[in-house]
Amino acid sequence: MISFTNAHNIQLFQDFINRESNSIILRDKNDSFRVILPDDFMSGIFNPDEYVSINGNYIYYNEARCNEIELTDEERFSCIAHELGHYYDETEKK
Ligand SMILES: [Zn+2]
Repeated sequence: MISFTNAHNIQLFQDFINRESNSIILRDKNDSFRVILPDDFMSGIFNPDEYVSINGNYIYYNEARCNEIELTDEERFSCIAHELGHYYDETEKK
């Protein structure tokens, strides 16, 4: 099962795991992703204006931006899934 580590315990990511970790794409995966928020030390590796973005095993989540455009949880899940798709695209090409 994939996992997200984040000191902030963001419910959105826990909900994503609860809903999606048994999906066909993710159920055989075991990677861990660290959630990075705009104020985090590591956020410099991301464009601060992104909504959700991935860079290696780091996934950026800009809740304020998502709120600005009123993304629903469902839409945020789609963004996370999309970004994980980039990660697995890259790893599966190697
Ligand atoms: Zn993309």
